[in-house]
Amino acid sequence: MILLDGKLASQNVTKALKQKVEQYTNKGFRAPHLAAILVGSNGASETYVASKIKNCEAIGFASSLVRFDETVTQEILLRKIEELNQDSTIDGILVQLPLPKHIDENQVILKINPDKDVDGFHPINAGKLMQGIPSYIPATPYGMTMMLDFFNIDTKGKHAVVIGRSNIVGRPMSVLLSGNYTFGNCTVTLCHSHTHNLIELCKQADIIVAALGKPDFIDDIMIKDGAILLDVGITRVDDETAVKGFRIKGDVNFEKVKHKAGAVSPVPGGVGLMTIAGLLTNTMKAYEQNYISEQNL
Ligand code: NAD
Repeated sequence: MILLDGKLASQNVTKALKQKVEQYTNKGFRAPHLAAILVGSNGASETYVASKIKNCEAIGFASSLVRFDETVTQEILLRKIEELNQDSTIDGILVQLPLPKHIDENQVILKINPDKDVDGFHPINAGKLMQGIPSYIPATPYGMTMMLDFFNIDTKGKHAVVIGRSNIVGRPMSVLLSGNYTFGNCTVTLCHSHTHNLIELCKQADIIVAALGKPDFIDDIMIKDGAILLDVGITRVDDETAVKGFRIKGDVNFEKVKHKAGAVSPVPGGVGLMTIAGLLTNTMKAYEQNYISEQNL
């Protein structure tokens, strides 16, 4: 079994980005700049944003964290996004989801300038992705495609089952896998909570992308020999023996599948790290398109 090691694959991406930043800053250009907005104090969101900021710093990106209290109004949030849209020193903007219930996530996503939408959630970028036009691809599916490329996984003509149809993971991943790319050309089945024969479909799959958020959902009886498993799930499961009182679990039962699968991405240490690599790559792209291309080189 091949371990789809996200640390190895993401370091390959971040090393190249770091070199690019050095080349640009040595020429006197400012560094790429990512602005992250965090509303409230959800533990998981705090961790994700802290990790994104830390990774920006590690490769020489500038970063800004804009924090709002849980009670912030939608109007104030939208006004802040507009301010960041107008700020020419900010290349990429991300708003950490989920947002409190009184805020309409769609309105927030729509407010972000599509040219700075490094999460790739804006309908303009989602539409471009659908049509195969270069765009900002949502970071998690983007990271998974980089992982498939890095480990030279042959996807052409394979049957891929994607479980989960969210706009940020499952649906864009199904589009990417079915596209005419090095990591694509699959025949894709997109499954969700109303899929009747999920086990049968999984047993036929050469590749499974598990993005449903149910710990240990995929086990050895659901897969065929040699299946490639990309585990997107991140669920905090109570564990009194762990220092933090919880452990992170994926959607794949790693111990059960490892004797049968052809390749598996671990959790932690798999797709999560590739998500950061995807975000940083999008931020570099935004910087080059919005700032570097405007300089008189
Ligand atoms: P979501 O929570 O918005 O939706 C879950 C999807 O799974 C839905 O489309 C639903 O129809 C489907 N589903 C639920 N139960 C199912 C079942 N029994 N059979 C088939 N389909 C089922 O999804 P999301 O936001 O894409 O997140 C999915 C998981 O991925 C979560 O654990 C989340 O924390 C994790 N996640 C990880 C990363 C990362 O970087 N690794 C990024 C984003 C999300």
